Amino acid sequence: MNSDFEAVIGLEVHAQLLTDTKIFCGCSTQFGNPPNTNVCPVCLGHPGVLPVLNKKVVEYSVLMGLATDCTINEESIFARKNYFYPDLPKGYQISQFEKPICEHGFVNLELDNGKTKKVRIKRIHMEEDAGKSIHDQGDTTLIDLNRTGVPLIEIVSEPDINSPEEASAYMKKLHQLVTFLGICDGNMEQGSLRCDANISVRKKGASKLGTRTEVKNMNSFRNVERAIKFEIERQIDILEDGGEIIQQTLLWNADLGKAAPMRGKEEAHDYRYFPDPDLVPVIIPDDWKTDIKNKMPELPESIKHRFINEYGLPVYDAEVLTTNKETAKYFEEVLQETNEYKLVSNWVMGEILAYVNDKKINISDFPVSPVNLGKLINLIKSGKISGKIAKKIFPLMLENNEDPIKIVEEKKLLQITDNTEIENVIDKVLKENKNQVEQYLSGKEKVFGFLVGQIMRITKGKANPKIVNNILMKKLSALKNK
Ligand code: ADP
Ligand code: MG
Ligand code: ZN
Repeated sequence: MNSDFEAVIGLEVHAQLLTDTKIFCGCSTQFGNPPNTNVCPVCLGHPGVLPVLNKKVVEYSVLMGLATDCTINEESIFARKNYFYPDLPKGYQISQFEKPICEHGFVNLELDNGKTKKVRIKRIHMEEDAGKSIHDQGDTTLIDLNRTGVPLIEIVSEPDINSPEEASAYMKKLHQLVTFLGICDGNMEQGSLRCDANISVRKKGASKLGTRTEVKNMNSFRNVERAIKFEIERQIDILEDGGEIIQQTLLWNADLGKAAPMRGKEEAHDYRYFPDPDLVPVIIPDDWKTDIKNKMPELPESIKHRFINEYGLPVYDAEVLTTNKETAKYFEEVLQETNEYKLVSNWVMGEILAYVNDKKINISDFPVSPVNLGKLINLIKSGKISGKIAKKIFPLMLENNEDPIKIVEEKKLLQITDNTEIENVIDKVLKENKNQVEQYLSGKEKVFGFLVGQIMRITKGKANPKIVNNILMKKLSALKNK
């Protein structure tokens, strides 16, 4: 990026709330049902119907507000945002405008360079989703109104973000919060968590914000980053050529790696917001707020600190283990069985996350139960098996979550810690490899590894490596001094 310029970015993030029913009617929010089956006169916008607010939507919004240190407004107002669109049967969207439910919060981002960055949240408001226009089924456009009235929160940041990396870190933070709170499934591909990026650039040190554009349609963290990078560079190029930025909305095309203006002329939006006369103000008395607060699950930040302070884990481990709720939960469940914190962390971050990522499954569907992983780790720690043998047993456990103690017994994999037994094997190896022993004695120390390898081969990897090293070393130096 050209160093004379800095980017200024503000994100508007929509999160679909995980309620069973829609925001103003009793229709199901189930994804993937046949088109136009989750509908009723209210969400179809028939004349004369009245919306009734879903209490869960308020509770979920307050949870997000509390998790981002917002002020929870005691009174907030629903407003009509008027515009015409085929998938918006009422001709207006019920949203919040002047008085949103939450305001003035912030989140802290931990950046890759080790620094933290505060991004202020301007507001969080409740609104209903619109329906879906389907353009890819022949020549006609089809309308599915199942999504109409599905509850959303919109989280609007202040323009505190200054790079594509920060933008994606911010999205990850919000993703982590909504999923830990259990208020949204966080699925960006299906659009349950989506963001519009407002982007401008200005000369470094300038105090006035530049003209912004809005980029939409990024369905992954990576695409948020790519799209913003593209748009920043596009704007800088224009300004450097003496041009001007036009305020407009662009659509990100991930295949082309480009953002292009949406078709049609971009009018200045005038939604003619006004308070919705069908809905009373939302009042949140203190005791309701306290109730919601008391039900709030532990947040990732707090879990992370606990992992560092209680279990002595490195910051890096604590961060990886708290990327999502299920991983943190799995990790702590293993600790019911063993208190080898760091060893458990290594296994979860290594073997287990590798498997889960490779198979694209959720760790809650991981075939080895936390108890059995704990048992495996205890076997290693007590010296009953080596780390190497553990890695051999692990694939067997993956098959049907078998108890590792049983596997070790059945396959006779217990580590040999009996000195005499090991000594016998060593003597045999020394006798059968006279040449190599000579080489070692004449100074070729690398041969030591070869001899250890032979011992391990004969014992099928079961000999305790420490004991092998000790005895072998002793025997060789005895030979040397002869
Ligand atoms: P609108 O009412 O047009 O939606 P808002 O003031 O609500 O505008 O801002 C929408 C988003 O755009 C916010 O996230 C805000 O931080 C961001 N934003 C506003 N001005 C700029 C700018 N000049 N450059 C980048 N982002 C901006
Ligand atoms: Mg806006
Ligand atoms: Zn309905």
